[in-house]
Amino acid sequence: MRLSTHYPVQRIWTVQLHPQADGPALVCSHCPLHTPRLSPASARSAALTHLAQHAQREVIPKHLRTCQCRTRGCCWHPRHRGCSGPIRLALSCGSGGRLWRLADICSACAAASRHTAVVPDTLLNSQRSGSVGAPTRKRRKPACGAGDRLLVQEMLTYLAAALPRFSSASARLLALQCALRADTRGNVRLPHGLLRGMHVHGRAELWSELAYAGWLQCAAPREPHREVHLLDAAMHAHATGRRLRARAAHWAMHPTPLILPQATPSALRLTALALAAHTSGTASSADADLLARLSGQAPEQLEDALDELVRFRLLQAWQHPIGQEEIFWWLPR
Ligand SMILES: [Zn+2]
Ligand SMILES: [Zn+2]
Ligand SMILES: [Zn+2]
Repeated sequence: MRLSTHYPVQRIWTVQLHPQADGPALVCSHCPLHTPRLSPASARSAALTHLAQHAQREVIPKHLRTCQCRTRGCCWHPRHRGCSGPIRLALSCGSGGRLWRLADICSACAAASRHTAVVPDTLLNSQRSGSVGAPTRKRRKPACGAGDRLLVQEMLTYLAAALPRFSSASARLLALQCALRADTRGNVRLPHGLLRGMHVHGRAELWSELAYAGWLQCAAPREPHREVHLLDAAMHAHATGRRLRARAAHWAMHPTPLILPQATPSALRLTALALAAHTSGTASSADADLLARLSGQAPEQLEDALDELVRFRLLQAWQHPIGQEEIFWWLPR
């Protein structure tokens, strides 16, 4: 018996967090998952971990992967521009963080869907051949600068879905540094000098914010490092080496060509970073919704931030043409 290769393979996994009196319970629509009652803080992380395990176990050849949004008549997003771009895994969050979905989806549908972020191939990566993404050793060494931008772009995209929507810009910038500097067990040691350089030294509330989100766990503060453990399972499956990630982390603190003083408000620095990660050459563009998501802001706030970057003379101009989904920006000559 032969299986028809034209039959679309379903690649959607969902989990729900059911509130219970003694803590939320995790229910998977694909396996008889019975979780003990979770603490609210660990529920989000447990949901993501479980979805990541499904994707890692249920690997299929690349040519059989199709846009799952399209097979449902593109009901996951308001606009329909037609499918385009490579098929990637994307993580979506609904019902205020109680419903999580991981699915194969094309780049166009992912960009048009709210609360959805493409999961980088470098995360959720199985070591088996034919896996979701290319293993580290097969990944071509990126050109200096471009590789840093790409890694930061991927990680910002992932964090936009993995962190709660109310996360502050400072917490997002801190989470990015942790994600890029973690070892393969999810342990991170951030020198106090680095935290001082980021203007977050002594800001215990940022660590509490990420711990409350169930994204990390803090060890008791010890000189000269701050040690944390990342609970998000995707952070334990980095396919990119630590050296390259550390270089990208360093670039993220000084994202040429959009470098702002560290004392500038974090929301503005995060916007500049998201923009720098999508900048190549003197004229660049990116999807407006995507930029707003990566910056953790509403679209109107994003436009204010872009005006600020013009005032700082980091941008010469920016434009969001009416009826277009792309924002365009130009660097000073
Ligand atoms: Zn399951
Ligand atoms: Zn679609
Ligand atoms: Zn599509």
